Parts: sequence; structure tokens; C-alpha cells
Amino acid sequence: MSGILDLLFPRVCYGCHRPGSYLCPRCSSLLTVQSFSPSQPDASLYGHLSLFAYKSSLKKLIHDLKYHFLSDSIEIIGQLIANSITSDFPHFLSDWKNNNYCLTPVPLHPLKRNWRGFNQSDLIAKNFTTKLGLKYTPDLLFRTHYTKPQVKQLKKSDRFSNVAGVFSVNPKYLLTLPKNIIIFDDVFTTGSTIKAAAKTLKEKGVDTIIGLTLAG
Ligand SMILES: [Zn+2]
Repeated sequence: MSGILDLLFPRVCYGCHRPGSYLCPRCSSLLTVQSFSPSQPDASLYGHLSLFAYKSSLKKLIHDLKYHFLSDSIEIIGQLIANSITSDFPHFLSDWKNNNYCLTPVPLHPLKRNWRGFNQSDLIAKNFTTKLGLKYTPDLLFRTHYTKPQVKQLKKSDRFSNVAGVFSVNPKYLLTLPKNIIIFDDVFTTGSTIKAAAKTLKEKGVDTIIGLTLAG
């Protein structure tokens, strides 16, 4: 099956257009690596780490993954994240492992998930947590309300109110919530989605919550 798909949709690098892979090793190495941004001391979210700048080849790849069902790019993105955390942020990785951090993706509302067929953040997170040996719990959070897409025509001030109160903790984990949690999303724009999810977890007694995104 993948052979037929390769003929119909040959994999071409989003950066240099060379055939073979959606992101060739050279273009992967050219992505801009970012640094950790701590939040205000009183915030629910301790801080966030957006691995790469959200621009050029990576921006196009993420867009096509989300809107054109480019689900076989999951492996490339998962490897990219695993490589970046291992080589650029090894101290984070050891801290997460030593302190039993559990990673969970930002959930999609079931209606949206059904429309798209998959939650790209879930698939990517499953891939790189396996590679890195991090604990992964995909269903820690629920999205209880359907919200307008964040990227489309919403003023910055409207973004937080759009997602405030839309998350809830899965009741089956209420008594056994991990002390430290990493919330993963593909893109960090204003951070309103991750902040709203962090607030929900903090209210249930989670100690440290860190945001991790592929790009921002
Ligand atoms: Zn390339």
C-alpha cells in the first residue's frame, strides 16, 4: 500500500524539494532550535519549550500533516523531536525521567477528531515518547467543548477566553494523577491552549506542568 502511495504522492523534502523524504537530513539540521521559556512564578504552567521556530519547511510540513492527512510524516517528526531533545536538551530529558514526568497530548474534541481521523499531537507524542523512554498517557485530558480553530481570525485577547474551561481531567486518573506532567502540542502560538490545559491540571493538584511543542 505504501508503495502505491509513494508513486501517487512521492515524498519530496519540504525544504529543498529533493525526493526521498518530507524533511531531508540537511534541511532538518537547518531548523532553528529554540530555548525554554519560564512562565510567571504564579502561573499554572511552569514554562514551555518550543523546540523549533515555526517557519519555512517545518511550518508547511505541519500544515499538510493537519489538513491533508499526511499521516506518514509522523515518523519523521517523531524522530526530529527525539533527536532534538536528546542532543539539544539532555538535561531536560534526564530531569523528566528522574522525576517521573508523564507526557500527555492536548486532546481534540471528539467531533474534530472524527472529522480529521486522527489527533496529530497524539500520534507524534506516542512516537517520540517511545523513542525516548518517557511515560505516555494519551487520555489524561478531555476536551469538553468544541472551540473555533485558534489559528483562524481570532484576536489574541479572544484566544484565552475561547479555550478557558474547555478541558477536564479524565475521571479514571483523578486519584492517581502524576505529580509532574508535560503537555504536548504541535504548535505554540499564544500558548492559550496549553495554559488552559495546565490550569485544569493544577486545580486537580498536579505539582509541575511543562508545555512542550514541536514549533512555536
Ligand atoms: Zn531538504
